[in-house]
Amino acid sequence: MVLFSLTTLASNSIVKIVKSIATFYMEIKIDRDLCIGAGTCVVLAPNTFELDDELKVVLKKSKKSDSDEDIIAAAKSCPVLAVIVGDEKGKQIYP
Ligand code: SF4
Repeated sequence: MVLFSLTTLASNSIVKIVKSIATFYMEIKIDRDLCIGAGTCVVLAPNTFELDDELKVVLKKSKKSDSDEDIIAAAKSCPVLAVIVGDEKGKQIYP
C-alpha cells in the first residue's frame, strides 16, 4: 500500500512529501529556490517528480510510485542538491 501526504512548509519554496510503502517511510523535501529545471529527477523518478509551468520541480500527486532506489538516484542526479531525502525518523539520507 502506498500513501502520500503533502505539506507546504515555510513559503512555497519547500514541499515535503511523506511516502509510506509497507513499513518503510521516506521523506522527500524539495527546495524550489535551488531548482534550475534540469529535469534529471523527472527522468529518473517520473511518478514522484514533475516540472511545473515555471520549469521548477514539484512533487507529483500520483498513485503510482517509483522505487526507493530510483528516488534516491533522482536526488543524487540533481546538480544543485535541491532534492533532500530522509528516512522515517527525519534523518537525512541524501545529500
Ligand atoms: S534535478 Fe534538481 S534542478 Fe533538475 S528539475 Fe530536479 S530538482 Fe530541479
